[in-house]
Amino acid sequence: MSSSRYYAPTQLNEAVQQLAQQGARAMAGGTDLLVQMRSRLEKPAAIVDLKKIDSLRRVDITADSVRIGSGVTGAELGENTALVACYPGVVEGAELIGSTQIQGRATIGGNLCNGSPAADSVPALIAANGICEITGASGERQVAVADLLLGPGRLDLQPGDIITAIVLPKPVAGQADAYLRFIPRTEMDLAVAGVAVNLTLDEQGVCQQARVAIGGVAPTALLVPDAGAALVGTRLDATALTAAGEAATAAARPISDKRGTVEYRRKIVAVLTRRAAVIAAQRTGRAS
Ligand SMILES: Cc1cc2nc3c(=O)[nH]c(=O)nc-3n(C[C@H](O)[C@H](O)[C@H](O)COP(=O)(O)OP(=O)(O)OC[C@H]3O[C@@H](n4cnc5c(N)ncnc54)[C@H](O)[C@@H]3O)c2cc1C
Repeated sequence: MSSSRYYAPTQLNEAVQQLAQQGARAMAGGTDLLVQMRSRLEKPAAIVDLKKIDSLRRVDITADSVRIGSGVTGAELGENTALVACYPGVVEGAELIGSTQIQGRATIGGNLCNGSPAADSVPALIAANGICEITGASGERQVAVADLLLGPGRLDLQPGDIITAIVLPKPVAGQADAYLRFIPRTEMDLAVAGVAVNLTLDEQGVCQQARVAIGGVAPTALLVPDAGAALVGTRLDATALTAAGEAATAAARPISDKRGTVEYRRKIVAVLTRRAAVIAAQRTGRAS
């Protein structure tokens, strides 16, 4: 590994200044970045370690919103019972990342910024209508998670931009989410496909809103509006679930690789859509 300068700022403005240097890279848990440096895919001139910036490591739940600091790890998300109650699907996506050791380091912001099409935390953030708060040399801005992703490893970020938090709306009564992925092994593998469903049922069990996002089956994780629309107005009967699954298959643009073929991924994403929708509905406590 070639040498790099190392900074560990405690304040966000310091980090922004340090990242303005040519060739500087942000590091959160380092579980992607250090692997890429060892493989010589990355040779940053300077590493700006974000882990000591307290403001990035908080989860704040208010009457209107759930704000997850980008530097919160999977393990920390899983221990936050209030967050799990609001967004069990977001937490289960983040908790699927790696092993116990990886969970202690890997952050939700790093998972998003690495730009992997199969990143496990991302579909549930899209399904939740998450918004990224971004700070950089040119100031602050907000970008929807779904719009941040441009392609594998490519994001709508300027050099030196830091995602400070992902903000989700506070769920309403009858709203819940779920994330399911399929991997060839029992753990520690990338998703062949992953699906997140976020929906709201009324007191009669009729679906009032649904957002379905798919991962691992296109250059980026994607929102599939047609899949959500297939569920709205139904009690998630077999016809509606099948239609949602078919919409997910139609939206998928997968590749064949050692984990699965195009045809396999198209089938799996439909199965996961149906199952994740049922789990999310059960979590509302209003499913008929
Ligand atoms: C053994 C192993 C198993 C894994 N299993 C999975 C898995 O099952 N599912 C999965 O999705 N991933 C998996 N990963 C990948 C990795 O652990 C995750 O992507 C992790 O969430 C990355 O977070 P991090 O904090 O370690 O990011 P880092 O490695 O620190 O950073 C990743 C990238 O994001 C940038 N970055 C980090 N934080 C910010 C920020 N706040 N603002 C702007 N840029 C930022 C960095 O510059 C870098 O480019 C695995 C990795 C390993 C080594």
